[in-house]
Amino acid sequence: PLYLDYCASTPLHPRVFQTMLDSARHCYANPSSVHDMGFKARLRVEESREKIARLLQVQPAEIIFTSGATESNNLAILGVIRAWMKKTGRTPHLIMSEIEHSSVYQCGKQLVEQGAEVSFLPVNRNGTVDPTSVKDALQANTVLVSVMHVNNETGAVQPIGEIAEVLRSMPDVLFHVDGVQGFGKIPVELEPIDLYTLSGHKIGGPKGIGLLVAKEYIELEPLMYGGEQEQGVRPGTTNVPAVLGLTEAIATALEEREEKAAYLTLLHKSAYSGLAAIPELVINSPEPPDSSPHIINFSYPKKGVTSAMMISMLGKRGIMVSSQSACSSKAKQSRVLMAMTQDEAISSSSIRLSFHEDVKLADVEYLVASIEQTVGELKVKNKFDLL
Ligand code: PLP
Repeated sequence: PLYLDYCASTPLHPRVFQTMLDSARHCYANPSSVHDMGFKARLRVEESREKIARLLQVQPAEIIFTSGATESNNLAILGVIRAWMKKTGRTPHLIMSEIEHSSVYQCGKQLVEQGAEVSFLPVNRNGTVDPTSVKDALQANTVLVSVMHVNNETGAVQPIGEIAEVLRSMPDVLFHVDGVQGFGKIPVELEPIDLYTLSGHKIGGPKGIGLLVAKEYIELEPLMYGGEQEQGVRPGTTNVPAVLGLTEAIATALEEREEKAAYLTLLHKSAYSGLAAIPELVINSPEPPDSSPHIINFSYPKKGVTSAMMISMLGKRGIMVSSQSACSSKAKQSRVLMAMTQDEAISSSSIRLSFHEDVKLADVEYLVASIEQTVGELKVKNKFDLL
């Protein structure tokens, strides 16, 4: 089998696996308990927080461990907006792009239902947000701008540095970045970012853990109540092995980033040129450096062809891919591709390929050949040649 769905989840890095195994065996006490084993567990968690803070160049108190990026994104957006509304009693305005992950986008939709004003920014044909559109959307009541680093369907890299520049002169407007798909692939500078989301299982870490960096001046209303853990904004018993695993995953992702990115770029080039040579296939991703090297998205926009059809046909050849993010895999059409192309045939037949350092160049050759055969079969099946 050829797994090419590394955007949906990655295997544990061997170093992460070993760390988690050791801590799951020996470090089982509750880190909030006030006995010796509790103190020791607490110490491991706080050492992890300090190590991550050093690696990300932020303060330890600015790191909030969560159950994953979905929670981090909810906490960043709802937490900031609810705290602001509580303090000011005014109607908030938020800005986000139309291509955000559903854990950001649906927060925006919920807030609209609750009376907030939200500007959803369009993207160009390459799937990127124009920083001047952020500037143009700003209002007197704008509280938060949320734009992801790398889009999880197309790999398109967003101009987060330029957006941060636009917002630099406006200290009252906070900038949140969902860094899930960019981290470990593309360098990121957290200095001009107020809130930053990471997920463990996308970078060789465990599932069910992530973090939110929230700079110390930020007021967050908790999403849940019932404990004083995580600076009082995220209650619940700390998952010590997962925190240690996440820490190891972040460290290895940064140590190995350059080498992996160079290799992934080779895979991307090979896949890109192979796919570009297949007639009538539309490649929806830009090429690196405008795309992260681990993602390529394409469509076969012919009548009757759906993503599900192609996923199943590639599945019969042992190839596992996705169309959209796993969280939106029930939707018939990709919201991201609709925002980019306004083309239903492209948006309902898209396939996302996502790579990892375990993938070989020969795998990409097999992949391209399989896609070519699949397209050939679809043509015969639907008698496209006769239409
Ligand atoms: N944000 C992006 C860009 C993602 O790709 C994902 C995963 O699909 C998430 C957020 C959600 O991550 P998690 O599975 O940690 O909740």
